[in-house]
Amino acid sequence: MNLPAIVLSTGGSFLLLCLIFHPLERAFPAKRGQRFFRPEWWTDLCFFLGQYLLWGGLVLWLLNHLASAVDAGVFSGFRAAVANQPWWLQVVEVILLSDFLVYWGHRLQHRIPFLWRFHSIHHSAEHLDWLAAHREHPLDTVYTMSLINVPAFVLGFPLETLTGLIAFRGIWAIYIHSNVRLNIGPLKWFIGAPELHHWHHDRARDAGNYANISPLMDLAFGTYRCPDHEPPAFGVREEIPRSYVGQMLYPFRRRRRL
Ligand SMILES: [Zn+2]
Ligand SMILES: [Zn+2]
Repeated sequence: MNLPAIVLSTGGSFLLLCLIFHPLERAFPAKRGQRFFRPEWWTDLCFFLGQYLLWGGLVLWLLNHLASAVDAGVFSGFRAAVANQPWWLQVVEVILLSDFLVYWGHRLQHRIPFLWRFHSIHHSAEHLDWLAAHREHPLDTVYTMSLINVPAFVLGFPLETLTGLIAFRGIWAIYIHSNVRLNIGPLKWFIGAPELHHWHHDRARDAGNYANISPLMDLAFGTYRCPDHEPPAFGVREEIPRSYVGQMLYPFRRRRRL
């Protein structure tokens, strides 16, 4: 894709997301009175632009390489056995395996200091809305996207077939950060909801709700948390630079030994 096309699609995506999520946030706010241009809106816009203009292509390129590396390493007999199952069973298997891996991968991001350096950038957001969903260090994105997609690569799902699923996960990830509280009834047991992920952004680092989409993994492993109100504050306890460049460099900074 050439530069004008990339810029155009970035602007188009921004407008589309605004049109979908802004009215929802106005009509069903989780935190009342939060302004559209709330503090650090511009930092999150930099993350949005960075993701679309710089990092998105790189992440996709790395995923393609990972797909072919896995492709070369997996027995064809195993692949054929997988492909002989009904397609719906394969889809269920891929989703469950991805959710399982991402759930545990995410718990490690909160537990292991090296992974937390990158993941803490996402958690440094003190105001949640659809734009804050984009605050993520690109290496953190590579980590999560690899975990999400490895089961599909191993089972022999080509990247193109997965596009719909990846797009759905992307939109849902934006939705669960939005400043929305909307009762979707029993569906929330299968596709999650903003109130669950908002609690994940509580200032306590082990706040629970690690699952990517369905909260079933949290229920299974005892980390499900859903009080009937919003957390009092979002963010992290450590000092993290507030600027975009500062946040991009933060994981690489030398630490003082305690
Ligand atoms: Zn997290
Ligand atoms: Zn989040």
